Amino acid sequence: MSEPPAAANPAKPALPDFQQRYELLVASISDYAIYMLDVDGYVSSWNPGAERFKGYKADEIMGQHFSRFYTEEDKATGLPARALAAARDEGRFEGEGWRVRKDGGRFWASIVIDPIRSPYGALLGFAKITRDITDRRAAQEALRRSEQNFRLLVQGVSDYAIYMLSPQGEITNWNVGAQRIKGYPQDEVVGSHYRRFFTDEDRAAGVPERALETAAREGRYESEGLRVRRDGTRFYAHAVIDAIRDEYGTLLGFAKITRDITEQRRAAESLEQTRNALFQAQKMEAIGHLTGGIAHDFNNLLAVLSSGVDILNAQQPNAPALRVLESMRRAIDRGALLTQQLLSFARQQPLAAATHQPNALIGSFEQVLRRASGPQVSFVFDLAPRLANIVVDEARFEATLLNLVVNARDAMPDGGTLVLETRNVRLGENEVGTLPAGEYVRVTVRDTGTGMPPEVVARAFEPFFTTKPVGKGTGLGLSQVYGFITQSGGDVQIHSEPGEGTAINLFLPAHEGGGEALAGTAPQAERVLIVEDDQLVMAVACDLFETMGYEVQTAPDAVVALRMLERNGEVDVLFTDLMMPNGMTGLELARTVRARWPEIRIIIASGYPQQALQGDQADLHEFHFVGKPYRIADLARHLRAAD
Ligand code: ADP
Ligand code: MG
Repeated sequence: MSEPPAAANPAKPALPDFQQRYELLVASISDYAIYMLDVDGYVSSWNPGAERFKGYKADEIMGQHFSRFYTEEDKATGLPARALAAARDEGRFEGEGWRVRKDGGRFWASIVIDPIRSPYGALLGFAKITRDITDRRAAQEALRRSEQNFRLLVQGVSDYAIYMLSPQGEITNWNVGAQRIKGYPQDEVVGSHYRRFFTDEDRAAGVPERALETAAREGRYESEGLRVRRDGTRFYAHAVIDAIRDEYGTLLGFAKITRDITEQRRAAESLEQTRNALFQAQKMEAIGHLTGGIAHDFNNLLAVLSSGVDILNAQQPNAPALRVLESMRRAIDRGALLTQQLLSFARQQPLAAATHQPNALIGSFEQVLRRASGPQVSFVFDLAPRLANIVVDEARFEATLLNLVVNARDAMPDGGTLVLETRNVRLGENEVGTLPAGEYVRVTVRDTGTGMPPEVVARAFEPFFTTKPVGKGTGLGLSQVYGFITQSGGDVQIHSEPGEGTAINLFLPAHEGGGEALAGTAPQAERVLIVEDDQLVMAVACDLFETMGYEVQTAPDAVVALRMLERNGEVDVLFTDLMMPNGMTGLELARTVRARWPEIRIIIASGYPQQALQGDQADLHEFHFVGKPYRIADLARHLRAAD
């Protein structure tokens, strides 16, 4: 029998049992290419697995050099020879790489080359086991790529700081968002403890450590709070810490996601503020209506009393009667003052508004303010140069300052510092209350006194709201300040906290332009036409004019009054109430009369000034105006005033 020289013919019957079984085993393996190379690398055996992977039949490949399974690139670098040399010298060569099938297709192979030696150590050849792991590699590659994509995604997210911490809290990686939000570049921050992002207070209180403990214990920790950027500025953060554990439950570290929610918080806060401001404005509006209504009616009653007292006084009463009348007069005056204060809050007091330089107003009033503040208080005037003008009623402006200074003094029973400051400011829309955007003058009265808790701040403008003992406070100071400033087109702000003192800011629209002044008219006259719908008030007015020697005609409304004038225009004075039924107001009547009978003097009476009703500043100066309750002296003054 002629036998082939190599020992690898699978169908050789003459082999002993052991050898046969071994060859059968190798021959039946199709998942692995198992074959032998001779010392120089020529194929000397081949199994079905090799045939399956590589595509060569045994008789095609036997005796061929194994380098043909390598790619051109690997062949060019001498990889086949190096693999054999490594197996020979180191006892084993293991590797992965692209291999080429007979048809030229490639597969990713895991290979092992073992040297085969004789019992005496002589190298006989090599055993080569190759496995096609293309699928596994593809899976690994896909995983790797998806991990890389994920990493790129995380790294590229700029709205969230996403990073990981070791179980001890050291930063292990960093993304673009983290750099953007916190300001640290990656190389500066990785490896350091994440507590550096917390405020000193939080660090001292152990907040960062507690957060990790909670996350480790409960799997997750969510919080909002102030964090510190690299440049030391603070931002409001929403942070989530998730514990990361392996499949055995060992803590590997933490994933941390932080969002900068400063803007959202600011928006939410300003919405809340706007809501509060609106609520406050509506509340003041409602109280204003109520107060104005009551004060107005009360004024009409006072008018009756006041005129009655005047009439009785004019009838030469005896001494005891005079005393009674005198105390009645005082009570009426007090009542009149009170209603004036209430009307002032309700923005229903006439304003003699004119253009003023606020620093000048303050300067001429300085001595009064200093005296009011008392000797205990050090009073600082901090007036801005080139302060804009404002349009205000001078007397009311002074009363406002006095009110604020007295409040400040009361808040500093043991002395302190009081600052009166003026500034030009530019406001954005709704930055203060509901004021439109524009230039304003801010007048601030600031004290170092007791301050106010929020619930007092919220109610301080309400009339009759006072925290002072009975007899000490009326609760009408700030309500008048508020009424006056808002009636003047401005707004008032209180900044105060208990123990921190108080600052009251008055904002008044800046104005560049000429002042307006009151003009006077009306000489003595003999005939008066009184137009008044309230019978009581009408009776009083008739008495008053009769007392002054006038011949009186009366009309219950404007329409009747016009008809009377048309019939006989023999009237020197028209005395009309402002508010009247039947559509035509006193103001409209006055205008009509002025147009048609320009020689008639006109006086308008009302608890309400025209301004509050018409919203027209000019109307106030168009006619003579008498506030209720009117007294002989007031009427006489207006009647006497030069044309
Ligand atoms: P009154 O002074 O008569 O109490 P106000 O209307 O002037 O009335 O003030 C109302 C309340 O506002 C005061 O009772 C006080 O509680 C508080 N208040 C006003 N100004 C100050 C201030 N400068 N410091 C502390 N509290 C103040
Ligand atoms: Mg007061």
